[in-house]
Amino acid sequence: MLKLNYYFICLISILVLNSCTHEEDVIKGPKKSTNRGGVVLTFDDDYVDEWFNANVKLKQYNWKATFYVTHFDKLSESQIRELTYLQQNGNEIAAHGLNHIHTTKYIKEFGGKEFIDKEITPMLSLMKNKGFDITDFSYPYGDRSVESDQLLFNHFKTLRGTNYGNEAPNFQNCYYQNKPLFFGLGIDNSYEHFSIPYFISLLQYAKDHNKIVVFYAHKTVAKATNKYETEFKTLDEICKFVKNNDMKFYTVSDLKKNK
Ligand SMILES: [Zn+2]
Repeated sequence: MLKLNYYFICLISILVLNSCTHEEDVIKGPKKSTNRGGVVLTFDDDYVDEWFNANVKLKQYNWKATFYVTHFDKLSESQIRELTYLQQNGNEIAAHGLNHIHTTKYIKEFGGKEFIDKEITPMLSLMKNKGFDITDFSYPYGDRSVESDQLLFNHFKTLRGTNYGNEAPNFQNCYYQNKPLFFGLGIDNSYEHFSIPYFISLLQYAKDHNKIVVFYAHKTVAKATNKYETEFKTLDEICKFVKNNDMKFYTVSDLKKNK
């Protein structure tokens, strides 16, 4: 009788232990994957051919990016095909104004309606005609105001501003905060705060605190010789860190789904 009881207790213990382990897995599993730190890599202007080449080099990291396009009316058919390819491969195409103007200056001079009629509406319809349903906007020169935000939120789900400097990671305002207005940190070589180890420290902070860093760049090049240029080396180091640390690449529209 005693022996039987012993076997019975063993059997129950095994069953209970197994069910606990199983339950923990179920709880931990999805939580880990939906709350992973990561990066949003964004690119501004109209360097479509260069971005297309960057994508070829960075595909090895399973990266994805958001391309905020300006001067859409001046792009060639082959550049539009390149954007279509980028979109079909998991990247996001977003908007950066039709003529790359200073938003607040323009609104002050011509008014909000004129700004929307000249800079936004025609751009959105041109882009829609080519298969790009745009939901996100970045400010040329980072030039924004509360008034321009309000006007633009009638047309876009999120707005991206710009940020500079090399504050300690916990003071740096380049993390996505679950708000439709957010700021990216420039990673072009010409910025005073340019430093790959600093960018990596922001990623490390994001990893440790489950945050998402937003970076922005312009023309992607092998060797920077001008303003508004980001070298492949910078992108390579960022992507390598993200991949090696099991972090995630987000597009801007992924962020809304990640709330
Ligand atoms: Zn720009």
